[in-house]
Amino acid sequence: MRKVDTLIESRWILPIVPKGTVLHHHAIAVENGRIIDVLPAAEAQARYEAIERVELPNSIVMPGFVNLHAHAAMNLVRGLGADLPLMDWLTQKIWPAEGKLMSPDFVREGSYLAGLEMAAGGITTASDHYFFPEDAASGLREAGLRCAVAGIVIGFPSAWAKSDEEYLEKAEAFIEAHRNDAWVRPTIGPHAPYTVSDHSLEKCAEISDRFDVPIHMHVNETAVEVSESLRDHGMRPIERLKRLGLLNSKLVAVHSVHANASDIAAMAEAGASMCHCPCSNLKLASGFAPIAEFFKAGVNVGIGTDGAASNDKLDMLGETRLAAMLAKAVASDTTAAPVHDMLEAATLGGARALHWDDEIGSIEAGKFADVIALDLSGVECLPVQDPAAQLLYAADRTCVTHTWTAGRLIYSRGDSPAIASQCEKALKIARKWQNRI
Ligand SMILES: [Zn+2]
Repeated sequence: MRKVDTLIESRWILPIVPKGTVLHHHAIAVENGRIIDVLPAAEAQARYEAIERVELPNSIVMPGFVNLHAHAAMNLVRGLGADLPLMDWLTQKIWPAEGKLMSPDFVREGSYLAGLEMAAGGITTASDHYFFPEDAASGLREAGLRCAVAGIVIGFPSAWAKSDEEYLEKAEAFIEAHRNDAWVRPTIGPHAPYTVSDHSLEKCAEISDRFDVPIHMHVNETAVEVSESLRDHGMRPIERLKRLGLLNSKLVAVHSVHANASDIAAMAEAGASMCHCPCSNLKLASGFAPIAEFFKAGVNVGIGTDGAASNDKLDMLGETRLAAMLAKAVASDTTAAPVHDMLEAATLGGARALHWDDEIGSIEAGKFADVIALDLSGVECLPVQDPAAQLLYAADRTCVTHTWTAGRLIYSRGDSPAIASQCEKALKIARKWQNRI
């Protein structure tokens, strides 16, 4: 008998790879934070002696969600300016609040709250884009998450940096500091085509090449962004990114709501990824991303929640369900965005976009044990005829009972003392920031 740290035995396992597979009565053996075996539960009991055995007779176990686009600290401005027009929302509510509150503490504590919310909903990796990246990483890590964090570059002064040069220097220093970090993967984060100059965008491309890091960027979010790009640069945002050296396999084009056929073809040819954030696009009335067209073209698709101010939930399962529903309606095709494509987008798709799919995004031997369990025994899910389809369409984030990152339990439904003390801390933080705006 080989000794392992943990044996997770479950009624169903959705490994994501091989695609479309649902394993019945299987187990996952975990040692030193990694998955070492996936096998029938009966064989696992004969082969492995586990320090801890977790039996889940009514659950589906899957890789944790990869939230491909977040502004975690914005949990502290959740609820501001609901229903305002986009520019009023930004200029009257969000930017003034951020201007007043922005600090390392704001980012660390907000990111910690967001991390707790994400862990409770089965998110194990968050790709963040905000100011004070070191503090964002620290808050997310404190909540137990793995994270990709952007060194932001934006053409406006903030409490984090005053000039393009300072943003670029600080981004580079952050990337350098986390080059070989198993928990924090750095990215370069030019904010959006309309907020970053050609010169800075070229520098971002150069940093991405030199450090081999993904480019995390809002692209084609609104119709105005596209029309202003045509007016100011004589070309669409994707054409401009191509000219400046950013359209390649490292690009994660967040939103891509207004991508047209030629944008999608260019992204497919370049091997770029798109990150779909349907709740944010709906709440800010940005439009409907043509997801079925992206899938058809072979573009890698991931899912993101965006920040809590424009969603207002960091709920990847809910986001993915909505994405699937919308895709069908937008394409007038019920076969668009099928279950296994969408569950793959929410996990491995995000990992691929971050070039992290060798370590996370599926349940395979050798990968980190970033794993979640959802209880399907509730009346809202019964009877279970098709566990994968019901996971997507019938379950919700309250069905998540366990979230592990690298084999360590960071969330469990119920009342473990560790979780309770986190809640107390979260309440204190929330009280501290409430009404400061
Ligand atoms: Zn965003």
